[in-house]
Amino acid sequence: MSYPSAQALLHRALQHVEDWEASWGSFEHHSSIGVNPDRLDAAMDEYLERLEGNYPFHHPRYAGQMLKPPHPVALAAYTAAQRINPNNHALDGGPPTSQMEQEVVADLAEMLGLPDETLGHLTGGGTVANLEALWVARELHPDQAIAVSENAHYTHGRMSEVLKMEMVSVPTDTYGRLDLDALDTLLDTHDIGTVVLTAGTTGLGTVDPIADALPLCRDSDARVHVDAAYGGFFRLMTYDQAPDLNGFPASHFEAIAESDSVAIDPHKHGLQPYGCGCILFRDPTVGRFYQHDSPYTYFTSDELHLGEISLECSRAGAAAGALWCTLKALPLAPNDGVGAILAACLRAARTWAEAVETSDALTLLAPPETDIVAYFPTPDSPTLSAVDAASQRLFETAMNATDDPVFTSLYRLPAETLQTLHPSLKADQDDAAVLRSVLMKPEHETYADALVERLSSLAA
Ligand SMILES: *Cc1c(COP(=O)(O)O)cnc(C)c1O
Repeated sequence: MSYPSAQALLHRALQHVEDWEASWGSFEHHSSIGVNPDRLDAAMDEYLERLEGNYPFHHPRYAGQMLKPPHPVALAAYTAAQRINPNNHALDGGPPTSQMEQEVVADLAEMLGLPDETLGHLTGGGTVANLEALWVARELHPDQAIAVSENAHYTHGRMSEVLKMEMVSVPTDTYGRLDLDALDTLLDTHDIGTVVLTAGTTGLGTVDPIADALPLCRDSDARVHVDAAYGGFFRLMTYDQAPDLNGFPASHFEAIAESDSVAIDPHKHGLQPYGCGCILFRDPTVGRFYQHDSPYTYFTSDELHLGEISLECSRAGAAAGALWCTLKALPLAPNDGVGAILAACLRAARTWAEAVETSDALTLLAPPETDIVAYFPTPDSPTLSAVDAASQRLFETAMNATDDPVFTSLYRLPAETLQTLHPSLKADQDDAAVLRSVLMKPEHETYADALVERLSSLAA
């Protein structure tokens, strides 16, 4: 196994597409789309230099937000299709990539354990995928509210305003997971049409108790939407050949199979560039809500066009092509391809957490469930204000170190959570920031110990 060169793959991809283009006969490009060489040179110089203003998302030392470059296979596959620029809105906008979209959507549904007849399509991202799920929830139960955990992504609150739906917030337990007793009470006292559960929160990667919440929802005839935008691919870790990982909530990922709809983002853990989310519906008849006709599309076939089951119109065929090619090269398997990468990320988080626990200068907030770890510099005095100040200080010092910087992120937690997990901390303010590290690159497994040691020495 070797890490493929992006340059070599890009070269092969562009060469092939240019040969294909040439096969249609040569022609002269119009002079208007020519570019003045000096201006082009200056534009590229400035552009490439300005891109250097990014943080090093590709490097193990970047363990901040949910950011990493796409896999070179995705990059080359995307570029090849982008050169042609198919639009997956209608089948005639890009027949091959539309077909590929149907294939990868079926692959994602199968990975999640959803039935063969599952209806779905790719979206611009998790926001639109979740919007479509909430919209279908409203169409099915126009007079009922949706219940969403306090720790769910903020998109649910915003989109329920867009959709003018009533949203009820469900409290969480100490670890930030939806509280089952609170859900049970809510289902008894409110008219809830759909419950949103999160498989891997954006904050700390925690997983709602999906397996236990499902029967409660069923008893009250409430539908279940799982927001697995971040964590959906971790379902591979519930398969027989997957490695054992302490603290990994396999049963809740398994239970995604029973949900009514799922949002999953290939541009988070599916190795893709941005612009690739996915929405899946267990009941394919919800396609009727999307139904519309168009005077200028849908002519080449009577099959259901992707644009007829999607709220977005133009969508990059390249996004579907890139995901298709990536999953051929790196399959959705528990111990190969995508699964091997995810297993390394999950182990990285466990290694990171253990290293924090052995360090005197750092304190672990709680053991990680997936691949995000929260911790804080052990404060001089046991107060929330000291934790807050020390976290902010270490975040900045580590990021701005001229030699061997480490990039983390900050996460603000309420005093109650911090005190329950660490009873010795005095609540002299309402909340405090802790450090958060998203270990979504498999290289983090190798570098976790060294990175924590570096943070530890900077904190001391
Ligand atoms: C990232 C994320 C979203 C939003 O998705 P985008 O792809 O950023 O639009 C929604 N929910 C969860 C749990 C996420 O992690």
